[in-house]
Amino acid sequence: MKPSDLIQRTQAAVWHPCTQMKQQIATPPLAITRGHGVWLHDADGRAYIDAISSWWVNLFGHANPRINAAICDQLNQIEHVMLAGCTHAPVVALSERLGQLTGLGHAFYGSDGASATEIALKMSFHYWRNRGQAGKTEFISLQNSYHGETLGALSVTDVAIFKDTYAPLLRHSTQVMSPDWRLAEAGESAEQYAERAAQDLASHLAQHHQQVAALIVEPLVQGAAGMAMYHAVYLTRVRQLCDQYNVHLIADEIAVGFGRTGTMFACEQAAIKPDLMCLSKGITGGYLPLSAVLATDEIYSAFYDDATARGFLHSHSYTGNPLACRAALATLDIFAQDQVLANNRSKGDYLDKVAVPLREHARVTNFRRTGMIWAFDVAGADASFAREFYLAALDQGLLLRPIGNTVYFMPPYVISEAEIDQLVRGSLAALVQVTGVS
Ligand SMILES: *Cc1c(COP(=O)(O)O)cnc(C)c1O
Repeated sequence: MKPSDLIQRTQAAVWHPCTQMKQQIATPPLAITRGHGVWLHDADGRAYIDAISSWWVNLFGHANPRINAAICDQLNQIEHVMLAGCTHAPVVALSERLGQLTGLGHAFYGSDGASATEIALKMSFHYWRNRGQAGKTEFISLQNSYHGETLGALSVTDVAIFKDTYAPLLRHSTQVMSPDWRLAEAGESAEQYAERAAQDLASHLAQHHQQVAALIVEPLVQGAAGMAMYHAVYLTRVRQLCDQYNVHLIADEIAVGFGRTGTMFACEQAAIKPDLMCLSKGITGGYLPLSAVLATDEIYSAFYDDATARGFLHSHSYTGNPLACRAALATLDIFAQDQVLANNRSKGDYLDKVAVPLREHARVTNFRRTGMIWAFDVAGADASFAREFYLAALDQGLLLRPIGNTVYFMPPYVISEAEIDQLVRGSLAALVQVTGVS
């Protein structure tokens, strides 16, 4: 099939996500035919470094032989069976391993990140109800937070472009000050700013804790806000406040889990354990849709009862899909066998080193890094910046999608030093082209 035919047909038949379809006429999607490692190949024979890991999901490259083999092996045993009334080895093994990694011993499964958010919110509310505190119905999230786009998840999301249109459909929730250090005042450190943000939460909880079921946060990095990064002390304070006021702490590690921030889970950097943890995206290495909500024994025990209605009667058809669980187990095996976190530290240091010219470009501000996530803001960027930079980056063989005036890198962990060179050099070239400033 000719690439141009594919574009025409996708335009007619496929309603693309997060896309104004009319604008897609001017900026057609890439027709991807295959991938290997960090590379995506399109139907015209061009190759691009997938520098944002296909929307933050891919960890160990496309067509990873070990993950491929695990899925093929599972395919010949059982592709799917419902998880109500049935169980299978992949879901048991995955739950055990996630329990060991997080210290949260009960795993409930969904299909996408947003469904994990829904599950966590419902579980928290239902926990308090089962414990005789049905008045705890409110949720708190951070300003500029993102937790997915189904109605419940969107209710705790705070990104205007996704939320405003649907406001009449959403449940009220409260947003407290974000610890994003870019918002600090002159002379205020990231840590001091995080402490100040925690104070804002403290005053809200002091007044309203009796109505509050849970606080949901993206630990260390608020991704969709434009890779807003913050000091780990915020998580320490948040844990203390949630304990003090009897409020659940939900850690949405959907984007930051599985090594993105330098530790397996971002919460580890504050040495805290949430009450509920949401995982998805990288959980299958970026292969298949799977999400998990991990819960403490205390939460689990509030549902364990003779009465059916006190149980958590939530379900999705593909809950605990065996193929997805095998992809997740193969992903965890790679972490266990390959010293991934240590290797990422040296790759990250290498990227920092070669990124100096980028960091020092006249228009670049707030250059920042947490683990394997880098971001910078471009001063003086106008409304067309993200699109223009995206196109200029494609010319450099890079797939990058700025968020507003924020350019970020979130590469698969298998990226090599030569590929890092190309990523940094190409980004600088794209920046020079788009800003006209060399
Ligand atoms: C992507 C994301 C979600 C939603 O996940 P989907 O799979 O897109 O529904 C929720 N929370 C965070 C922090 C995310 O980055």
